[in-house]
Amino acid sequence: MQTAATPPRVLGLYDQPFWDLLAESGRMHLQCCSACGAWRYPPGPACHECLSPDCEWKPITGTGELLSWIIFRKQYLPAYPAPYNVIAVRLDEGPTIISNLTSDPTLDDSPIGRRVRLTVARMDDGVALPRFEFADR
Ligand SMILES: [Zn+2]
Repeated sequence: MQTAATPPRVLGLYDQPFWDLLAESGRMHLQCCSACGAWRYPPGPACHECLSPDCEWKPITGTGELLSWIIFRKQYLPAYPAPYNVIAVRLDEGPTIISNLTSDPTLDDSPIGRRVRLTVARMDDGVALPRFEFADR
């Protein structure tokens, strides 16, 4: 049960649409290059493939593969009591995102390579955060 406020996010110049779209739609959107179709994450001013500045924020599938994980056993922030996991997911669109896994927080069996899908956690203070769960359970 969350009792502390969600820590404030440190936003870069191009991050606000990501959080606004997640909160409004319950889906993750990423920048998609209008010139070549490459997905950008983290958000930025130009395409990493073709350098075009043009892009649209488009919804992604929300599915991917778990690349790595770790369990934090020390509590750093009041909103995140230990132990908790941190995972790296390669989205099917290509970018890698760091998040948490909700469906098996102990991660007793190595989950590397397992399919995951996005869920949106609504924190007690109204903040929407991207999380993942196993797609095959
Ligand atoms: Zn491009």
